[in-house]
Amino acid sequence: MLTSITLNGVSYAFGANTVLNQIDLHIEPGSVVALLGPSGCGKSTLLRLLAGLTEPANGEIHFADRLVAKSGWSLPPQARDIGMVFQDYALWPHMTVAQNVMFPLKMRNVARSERENRVAQALSRVGLSEFAGRKPAGLSGGQQQRVALARAIVAEPRVLLFDEPLSNLDSELRESLCQEMATLLRQLGTTAVYVTHDRREAEILADRIVHLSAGSIAADRLISTSGEYA
Ligand code: ADP
Ligand code: MG
Repeated sequence: MLTSITLNGVSYAFGANTVLNQIDLHIEPGSVVALLGPSGCGKSTLLRLLAGLTEPANGEIHFADRLVAKSGWSLPPQARDIGMVFQDYALWPHMTVAQNVMFPLKMRNVARSERENRVAQALSRVGLSEFAGRKPAGLSGGQQQRVALARAIVAEPRVLLFDEPLSNLDSELRESLCQEMATLLRQLGTTAVYVTHDRREAEILADRIVHLSAGSIAADRLISTSGEYA
């Protein structure tokens, strides 16, 4: 099921510091939108609002017809049907790769008989089928991020959220994983918001680039499939 995302007049402040100022944004169902901008411009804050990790001071957020946040109220992350990938992977070190990936299925009470298949499919999609029994510490950074990606997609969420997932990787790996994620996102067709400060990453991955500057949308453009500006 494809979900649109709509923000109406969304603002956020840390004390006297206004971090997001009256953001209006509509994201089409199934599109991949990159939120691009320099450090400190409010990208992570906007993503955390979409995830339900924090609530707006003003404005409303809808996923399709469903209100998920308004001033002082927020539907919690586990009730939003989202998958998230962070810069630091955020894997559980004591669990194996397969247990990490299975976790969202347990949270959603997916039948035990179905879990193994779903985990195997997700690990296959990210090229990690042989690593199911390993612990995260035994994997490279790129492999750990693939595990995090498998965990984000395994429950087939309606929205995928990424916060600079490639920033900790070296440039060669960043490039190849970026291309793979672009392919995967096309295959899945899930509505996705991808935060990055790297313009090239945004151009490879996204259908549309929204430039954030000091808490406001400074530019908003569509990208053709060849990676050039439309
Ligand atoms: P980005 O992800 O684009 O680098 P952030 O959304 O993390 O930006 O931060 C936006 C602004 O909010 C920055 O000015 C930052 O200093 C401030 N900020 C972020 N987190 C906090 C916090 N926990 N407390 C106070 N200010 C914060
Ligand atoms: Mg950030």
